[in-house]
Amino acid sequence: MTKPFMQHLIDPEICIRCYTCENTCPIDAISHDENNVVVDPAICEQCMACIPVCPTGAIDEWRVVTTPYTLEEQFSWDELPAQEEIAEAADGGGIEALDDEIARLLEAAHAGAGGKTRAPASAARASVNLYNLERPARARVQGNYRLTAGDSDSDVRHIILDFAAQPFPVLEGQSIGIIPPGEDAEGKPHLPRLYSVSSPRDGERPNYNNVSLTVKREPRGLCSNYVCDLKAGDEVRVTGPFGATFLMPDDGAARLLMICTGTGSAPFRAFTMRRQRMSAGGRGDGDMVLFFGARTPDSLPYFGPLGKVPDTVLKKHLVFSRVPGQDKEYVQHRMLAERESVAAMLGDVRTHVYICGLKGMEEGVEAALTEIAGAAGLNWTDTRDAMREAGRYHVETY
Ligand code: NAP
Repeated sequence: MTKPFMQHLIDPEICIRCYTCENTCPIDAISHDENNVVVDPAICEQCMACIPVCPTGAIDEWRVVTTPYTLEEQFSWDELPAQEEIAEAADGGGIEALDDEIARLLEAAHAGAGGKTRAPASAARASVNLYNLERPARARVQGNYRLTAGDSDSDVRHIILDFAAQPFPVLEGQSIGIIPPGEDAEGKPHLPRLYSVSSPRDGERPNYNNVSLTVKREPRGLCSNYVCDLKAGDEVRVTGPFGATFLMPDDGAARLLMICTGTGSAPFRAFTMRRQRMSAGGRGDGDMVLFFGARTPDSLPYFGPLGKVPDTVLKKHLVFSRVPGQDKEYVQHRMLAERESVAAMLGDVRTHVYICGLKGMEEGVEAALTEIAGAAGLNWTDTRDAMREAGRYHVETY
């Protein structure tokens, strides 16, 4: 009888196909086909290098098996198989020890904030991976607008893609892949790059089958330059939608605490527009609070439109790190300055926390939340873990 072991798997429902894990694995144990990203059990040494870089936690999946799932099986999955019963005789008491060992390695790999999350209990069910590398959707560019001041170093674009008659159901918080044209140095077609959708589920304008993206031009970014240079009418190949956990509660009374940097604001634009449309329909009394960090006001995406959203809908804390003559301020600094209102939200079971943007912000935000919760008599680790378990705590950082 084969001894049971922990097989490392990737959840195809949650995975956003950003391929960061594949690019990070030091021994090429992770690969993809047109459908899924998978781990080869014959190569993986469970070094955990792929764990902290995963923006969604799709990578945190383990099954005790006696016969490992093959690559072909993993490529064919739409969802993960449940844990199979392992006979006590085969186990010999080892499974619990394996479980403890994986838990210990994971905790060390995450070192805090990130990791596997659940969708809010009331969230609508997300459609994922409807269009893949082999069969992408074809969208037309409806508009490409610069969001940042013309003389700002930061060129951030608002791109609207129209899907015409192709069904493209998307929820706020999901991402889509854009396939840049051309091939890489090895002659292989470029892989898609992932962008968070910044429009709500019923379209950039209500009842249009379109989505918007918020894309920053990176100096040598292959896909960001392609996207930022798109013209109205251009055709774009799109994969996705992806992501099934970083979703809004479908509950107008839920309170949303949203923390972001730069283009990490994309999903929160979608959340805000969704709420505004819901309130117009008589639903959506829960408050929304946004901590949003950028270098300067003219490099903060949606600075103008955000100013027009009433404080009764969205309480905004816009903080800037590089305004000449002013102290550097990060989102975590402002959260500490607003500790009482933040603590009141953390202590309310209706509150959902969302963190999106730079990977580097996780540590500072986690430290701020620890301090704020502690001062209010809450143990942050316990509070966070309970929120995560209940689908009320979400981190998506790159
Ligand atoms: P950015 O302009 O480089 O930075 C935005 C602000 O964050 C700046 O004020 C920056 O300050 C500050 N910042 C830097 N380090 C920080 C830290 N440790 N803690 C708190 N604030 C910090 O941002 P960006 O270029 O737009 O990048 C946004 C990031 O979000 C990208 O990495 C992008 O991939 C990611 N993103 C993620 C998602 C997602 O997860 N779904 C969606 C969209 C974008 P200084 O530069 O002055 O230090």
